[in-house]
Amino acid sequence: MKKLLFAFLFLSLSAYSFTLNNGAGAAFKKDVIKVNVAAHTCTNIGVTNSELLSIAEEAVNLFWNRVATSKLEMIGGSIVTVASDFQTGQVCTGSTSNCSPTPALVVSSDILISCNTNAANYSGSNEVLGVTVPNNISGAEIKGALVLVNDQAGNSFENKPHAAKVSIIAHEIGHALGLGHSPFREALMYAQFVEGRDRLARDDMNGITWLYPEEEPDLGICGSVDLDGHGQGSPLSMLSGLLIGFVLIVYGRKLLPRF
Ligand SMILES: [Zn+2]
Repeated sequence: MKKLLFAFLFLSLSAYSFTLNNGAGAAFKKDVIKVNVAAHTCTNIGVTNSELLSIAEEAVNLFWNRVATSKLEMIGGSIVTVASDFQTGQVCTGSTSNCSPTPALVVSSDILISCNTNAANYSGSNEVLGVTVPNNISGAEIKGALVLVNDQAGNSFENKPHAAKVSIIAHEIGHALGLGHSPFREALMYAQFVEGRDRLARDDMNGITWLYPEEEPDLGICGSVDLDGHGQGSPLSMLSGLLIGFVLIVYGRKLLPRF
């Protein structure tokens, strides 16, 4: 029995290795999440704003909208005019590892992608492709998140092929949705860019399902069980269910081989 318990714990730990990027386990609570793009001109990333918006649409359709166990539904939004701080400002006061969101860059709703030239956002490195902060969180609800694409001269985003740009934006959108990095190299949410990535890995799907679980489908194929004959379950029917479960557990234990 101990061996069985150990194996179960090990499986649990190895199956859920995704991380979250905020202590509250926060997620968007709205049914459809939009991805908007800031209207200012990006000078160094090699794509226009409307191309960036269509890259974002490809990213959500190729990656995040495809998880059968998640209710997540994302759509491309629009090109929106925002303050110049989004182009030149620093997203966090203090370090990005201990971020206090800069008020001027707080996103009021949904996800905003903005190219940005402030070196402090990328630890002064042109190797950092972008940075994302869900910077409008209320309790366990993300209300708005900001994706900054590194628009400094000599950035590493500009010369990447189109498919790579799609997967990079998809990775940043994963952060906007509340996910942190995955330890698995095959995962989209792995901390480093990997060439040729065109789908989510199991760990990404586990993470997004944990944050945005699919509601139980009602396909009308299987009739639901009503223990007390009054439609929805009542405390009494729940008690009956618990009692039956308890009896089954006690009975089942007698049948289990002991280790
Ligand atoms: Zn990342």
